[in-house]
Amino acid sequence: MMKTIGVLTSGGDAPGMNAAVRAVVRTALKKGMTVYGIKRGYCGLIEDDIEEMNAMSVAGIINEGGTMLYTARSAEFRTEEGVLKAVETCKKYGIEGVVVIGGDGSFRGAADLSAHGIPCVGLPGTIDNDIACTEYTIGYDTAMNTAMELMDKLSDTSQSHYRCSVVEVMGRGAGFIAVNTGVASGALEVITKEIPYDMDAIAKKMLEYKAKGKQNFIIVVAESIGHTEEFAKLIQEKTGIETRATILGHVQRGGSPTVRDRVVATEMGYYAVELLEQGIGNRVVGMQANKIVDFDIQEALSMTKPYDERLHHIAEDVAF
Ligand code: ATP
Repeated sequence: MMKTIGVLTSGGDAPGMNAAVRAVVRTALKKGMTVYGIKRGYCGLIEDDIEEMNAMSVAGIINEGGTMLYTARSAEFRTEEGVLKAVETCKKYGIEGVVVIGGDGSFRGAADLSAHGIPCVGLPGTIDNDIACTEYTIGYDTAMNTAMELMDKLSDTSQSHYRCSVVEVMGRGAGFIAVNTGVASGALEVITKEIPYDMDAIAKKMLEYKAKGKQNFIIVVAESIGHTEEFAKLIQEKTGIETRATILGHVQRGGSPTVRDRVVATEMGYYAVELLEQGIGNRVVGMQANKIVDFDIQEALSMTKPYDERLHHIAEDVAF
């Protein structure tokens, strides 16, 4: 039975990380544990930037984006020496297990720390939803809603000018945000690296729909495709329709988390502490068929996640 645990956020931040930290802290305290907040991801473990948490430490944060523990990428933690320093810090505070909220890179770090005798449980925290073992990652819903709201605004102005908007959304290597926000914003096309696309066919379709009365064209491009500006230029050249590129960028990472992100973060945080309480580490928490489950970290990292090709085709079929 563990008596003392730590919690950290690592890698890219995501709305809902605070809700997860809150759940971890409050659950641990309810179970009679001591809980430490580790600042700036693995940097805080290496540099001894750690603070004991109480119920009030996490008051008023469930509705806040970002992460109260701050986040960082630590090159030093990737070295054996860095991991050993982290282990020493854990020993100093009596930290027996750590909840690591982050992405795949952070989970690799969690596996290393687990292998050095500090059992860790990873929680999937990234807006990109690009973690294979889970259908859902903390921050994904908020980011998609933010992108959708911004696209709605773009749609207003492009409609007024009969323009085409090419909008780049985040998602790292994956098209999950693109396909869902594409559906939600009534986009003509969704361009992701998972499905081949044909510029001439897109241009032809735009002109055909324009002839039938369509006034406003949104094309959502996933970050993984890149060259969004050139893409917009090419569309304009091929169609003669005025086309503007908008890269939504980091605004998608901020903002108050949605209900879904707060609830999932809370459930996952609770679950992580239950695992550590039983002395179980080297695990990643995920969601499968709407249930919270856990996997061995190596197994989780070796999994692949299917792209929703059907949704991609639905997006295009209902565009006009
Ligand atoms: P996001 O997907 O949001 O960027 P992430 O967790 O994948 O999140 P990374 O920058 O890849 O982000 O990883 C965060 C930190 O985890 C790194 O700075 C490093 O300290 C640690 N880490 C990453 N990869 C490894 C690895 N292979 N071995 C040990 N530690 C790692």
